[in-house]
Amino acid sequence: MTTLPTQLQHDLQALAGEGGYRDATERDVTEMRGRYRGGSTLVLRPKTTEIAAAIVSRCAEAQLPIIPIGGATGLVAGHIASENQTGVLLSTERLVNIREINSTDRQLVAEAGVILANVQAAATAKDLLFPLSLAAEGSCTIGGNLSTNAGGVQVLRYGNTRDLVLGVEAIMPNGEILNGLSPLRKNNTGYDIKNLLIGAEGTLGLITAASLKLYPSIKDSCTALCPVASPAAALALLSQLQHELGEFISAFELISGQGLHFLREHFPQLPQAISPPPEWSVVLELGSSAENELKKLAESALTKAIQKDLILDAVISQSETQRQQIWSLREHIPLANKKVGAIVSFDISLPLSKLALFIKTAVPKVQDFDGNLRINCFGHVGDGNLHFNVFPPIDKLACNYRSQQTEIRSAVYDLVQKMGGSFSAEHGVGRDKVSELLQYGDPTKLEVMASIKKALDPNGIFNPGAVIDPRK
Ligand SMILES: Cc1cc2nc3c(=O)[nH]c(=O)nc-3n(C[C@H](O)[C@H](O)[C@H](O)COP(=O)(O)OP(=O)(O)OC[C@H]3O[C@@H](n4cnc5c(N)ncnc54)[C@H](O)[C@@H]3O)c2cc1C
Repeated sequence: MTTLPTQLQHDLQALAGEGGYRDATERDVTEMRGRYRGGSTLVLRPKTTEIAAAIVSRCAEAQLPIIPIGGATGLVAGHIASENQTGVLLSTERLVNIREINSTDRQLVAEAGVILANVQAAATAKDLLFPLSLAAEGSCTIGGNLSTNAGGVQVLRYGNTRDLVLGVEAIMPNGEILNGLSPLRKNNTGYDIKNLLIGAEGTLGLITAASLKLYPSIKDSCTALCPVASPAAALALLSQLQHELGEFISAFELISGQGLHFLREHFPQLPQAISPPPEWSVVLELGSSAENELKKLAESALTKAIQKDLILDAVISQSETQRQQIWSLREHIPLANKKVGAIVSFDISLPLSKLALFIKTAVPKVQDFDGNLRINCFGHVGDGNLHFNVFPPIDKLACNYRSQQTEIRSAVYDLVQKMGGSFSAEHGVGRDKVSELLQYGDPTKLEVMASIKKALDPNGIFNPGAVIDPRK
């Protein structure tokens, strides 16, 4: 990273005030899976929206790139500035107040740097629910969640982050504050700017706070782990359960046998609910805001599913500890994957009708490169979202396959495109998938995106190199 002009650095530090800046740490400049390393050395950490606005104004005047950063858990290098770029990291780590919780409005207003788990806990303390839930919830921030339009395990019932947001406060690229916090559920008054900022991955401004929708808390729940014969059987099971249990279904996750083998290898202390690991299984969670005897309903529905050969067995949690054990298996899968080291990781979505065929076709396609490649295919199958990760054979390393990475990526993405899917379901584009967006994105959509970026950020200071191709 090239150094900032001395006067500019001095001005920015003065605006940020005491405790308002620091040197970048390893966490700030390294992508979670270690695939990218960035260069920004100065991290600005405003304590208030007004200070953040003053910093953005000064950067706008100097046309200095700004890279917003939250919990640094993003998986597409959105917060990793390129090494030879001058700029600053603008962190929300001191914007950590929960400004309001209103039970009547069913609304919580959180500043952007509040860790997701703390938003959930604040809602729970008022006997309400904020349903966004993902394995990184102990470190990711609500600002990062909005900026990536995060998905997670309860999209099936509550939608993506976008569906959970009522309003947004943000600093636009010219330094002006957008005052969009609102408890309103209906507000058709012109363009929906909040929905431009949600999912923009920090390319259109800095989100400083959000009004979030709260739901009735869960009073009755039931979690089950069910081995299934195949992904097709998993989808048939989902369809049957949706007819029988409707909106009680809050999560429906696919786990592959390969994922359970990785867990055995790298987290042997985790109790494996079913032994030996089944080739495929699903985690099902039901939840209700009123007492509905969900365990009984689940037992009855899953017994029918066994009779119809949709599932091979079912472990239904009998206690909170057992429930957590089942979820812990699912949530440790990305961590085990990181320890094994993937050659390529895909976060794709497909129409549900194509999902089983995709897996059937993609696995041999990838193994054409090397029959011993290991594939851990898992994820939010109820939303058509698969994490399809390709690993080296047991005695090899991912770096042995560097020369084949691009070809494997193209083979899988071409298939996804052919089947009407998306090359990025929930992680976003960041810097990692800019070329895929160019290749697979609708040309008109790309033109509109470039026009919006030019209109709101004419000098391209917000997160240059992320999402939008820098040559556009
Ligand atoms: C173990 C693990 C599991 C995960 N599971 C899921 C999952 O199930 N579903 C899912 O969707 N994602 C998942 N992720 C990805 C990640 O957690 C999410 O993308 C999360 O929303 C990122 O939040 P963050 O605060 O860490 O953002 P960061 O990583 O800091 O930033 C992400 C992007 O948002 C921008 N940004 C951050 N804060 C702001 C802000 N206030 N204003 C404007 N731009 C901003 C950054 O510039 C960057 O482009 C997982 C990650 C890990 C490590």
